[in-house]
Amino acid sequence: MRIALATAGILGTVATSVALAQNPNPVPKDPGAYPQHSRTRPPPVVVTPGPYLGPVAAPSDAIVLFDGHSLSEWRAADTTKGDAKWQVKSGDIVIAAGTGDIATRRSFGDVQLHVEWSAPNPPRGEDQDRGNSGVFLMSTYEVQVLDSYHAATYPDGQAASIYGQYPPLVNAMRPPGEWQVYDIVFHRPHFDAAGRVTTPARLTVFHNGILVQDDMTVIGPTTNSRRAPYAAHPDRLPIKLQDHGHPVRFRNIWVRELPEVAN
Ligand code: MG
Repeated sequence: MRIALATAGILGTVATSVALAQNPNPVPKDPGAYPQHSRTRPPPVVVTPGPYLGPVAAPSDAIVLFDGHSLSEWRAADTTKGDAKWQVKSGDIVIAAGTGDIATRRSFGDVQLHVEWSAPNPPRGEDQDRGNSGVFLMSTYEVQVLDSYHAATYPDGQAASIYGQYPPLVNAMRPPGEWQVYDIVFHRPHFDAAGRVTTPARLTVFHNGILVQDDMTVIGPTTNSRRAPYAAHPDRLPIKLQDHGHPVRFRNIWVRELPEVAN
């Protein structure tokens, strides 16, 4: 028995070493004073944004990812499942619950991204089960979409949070059924040849014109209930929208590719 246990211990050590060799990045610690998904963390102050004045027209150098007519720029995020299965209704994309996430056919690195979204009205459900979707930069780093209008959840999971990492600076929600506007600036992470992250990703987010994420350092992939270390990935990856089972609507999605900042 003693020999068997010793053997298991050696194998365990070997397995751990292999795992470390595959990912040289450390598991990140919680940023700030609160553990992930803390419900004792004070919620962001509510700020009432100005009125929605209609879709913000794409500038001349933008790539329009959805113009109200076609999902041609999108496919199923699962590459084995072909075209995007979400619906286009009245000029909006409507999540067809259960059909899976969708992703852009093109890949992107550093971007300015404009997304408009609307939570179901009347609202249904509570907490994370209420108008949940998400905008994933590089299919990996989520800016949360959630009905957080007079609706509680853990602050690092409410609308405009960098999911599981940073609550928004303020709660800038409009009511469900109204259009929410995200303007996102994203700088991708950089990795060295060994797969170590040399420059983490950075995110700035405006929600309904209000600054809610101010050049934040993304500590790794955004994951539920755990801290995931960075894992090296290509310089360009699709933008992904999340099917969380709720019929959230999207419209007027466009992106500007940014020149890479020196690092
Ligand atoms: Mg989400």
